[in-house]
Amino acid sequence: MSFYDLIQSCKDFDIEQFCAEVTPQKVQSILAKNNLTEYDFLALLSDAADPFLEEIAQKAAVQTRKYFGKTVKIFTPLYISNYCQNKCAYCSFASQHHINRRHLNLDEIRAEAEKISSTGIRHILLLTGEAPSLVTLQYIKDAVKILREYFSSVAIEIYPLTSEGYAELIKEGIDGLTIYQETYNQSLYKKLHTGGPKENYRFRLEAPERASAQNIRVVTIGALFGLYNWRYEAFFTALHASFLQKNYPSVELCLSFPRLRPLAGEFNTSYLVSDRQFVRMMVAARLFLPFAGICVSTRESEKFRRAIIPMGVTKISAGVSTAVGGHIGDGSTSQFEIADPRTLEQVKEDLHKMGYQPVMHDWSNRFEI
Ligand code: SF4
Repeated sequence: MSFYDLIQSCKDFDIEQFCAEVTPQKVQSILAKNNLTEYDFLALLSDAADPFLEEIAQKAAVQTRKYFGKTVKIFTPLYISNYCQNKCAYCSFASQHHINRRHLNLDEIRAEAEKISSTGIRHILLLTGEAPSLVTLQYIKDAVKILREYFSSVAIEIYPLTSEGYAELIKEGIDGLTIYQETYNQSLYKKLHTGGPKENYRFRLEAPERASAQNIRVVTIGALFGLYNWRYEAFFTALHASFLQKNYPSVELCLSFPRLRPLAGEFNTSYLVSDRQFVRMMVAARLFLPFAGICVSTRESEKFRRAIIPMGVTKISAGVSTAVGGHIGDGSTSQFEIADPRTLEQVKEDLHKMGYQPVMHDWSNRFEI
């Protein structure tokens, strides 16, 4: 059974109704447990659980220290092309927007890599839009080859590939895949993706399974919070993560809860997620999936990121530009506005002050065995 089949089997499950029936006694009984089910996770998102947030957060902090210590991994994204033929309603790079588009050549990718690596960053996340005639698999492979000269870990956040595509990139040296389903709600997904290959919900949904089956080292998943009901998206994100952990136990699983940020073009939503709701999802996820990484990007503010680190965060980005060519000073339109503009050094210093070890390098795939 694939995760797509699992989602189909949940179609009649009413998440809001389930949450409305959760009692304070039920929440207390969940907090007394060591292992949570997916329904326990969902119950912790109910209104009845809200008064217990402090207790849940403290338990999540203990679990995080138990499995990850007081360490936080640091990475930065590298955008190499913002050409995209998709029409995602919520993205600045969507084909309908008349923005400043750039596609880095290999020399420019090298220049960006040199600049970023000179700051001490060793984990890089390579991002592109989806423009198959320009951003070809060969182009990505060439980029990965260059990045491996500068970084010990190279992960990708690109359009979904076939199994063969993932196998080729893993052979080239990538060790991580980040892919967000955006929304797990299939009918909304259809409305938000009205052009380009990204229309295919199932092909995207099953991308983490395809990469995991090819033995990728780390997979990061999530939804884009703000597109739809936060409980719904959090429940299916957690269910997806649990499914991947059970079926691919050798793959390191990481969750992320990116929230919508201001962008080029208009996008209106009535589903914006509050800070409190964000914390509730994150700490509940920590209790449900104690070994999963939790990544928080610069979509979140400096103050907020500092406050939530002890509650479950294991990985953050720093020194970020979301523009193509943004590090060598010749940037294009940004994908979204970042909310934490601190430099890498400032982030490291802040972590030290909080008693945390910033981890720049915990993995190396640069030398053949
Ligand atoms: S979200 Fe990704 S696929 Fe969609 S328009 Fe933006 S860059 Fe393209």
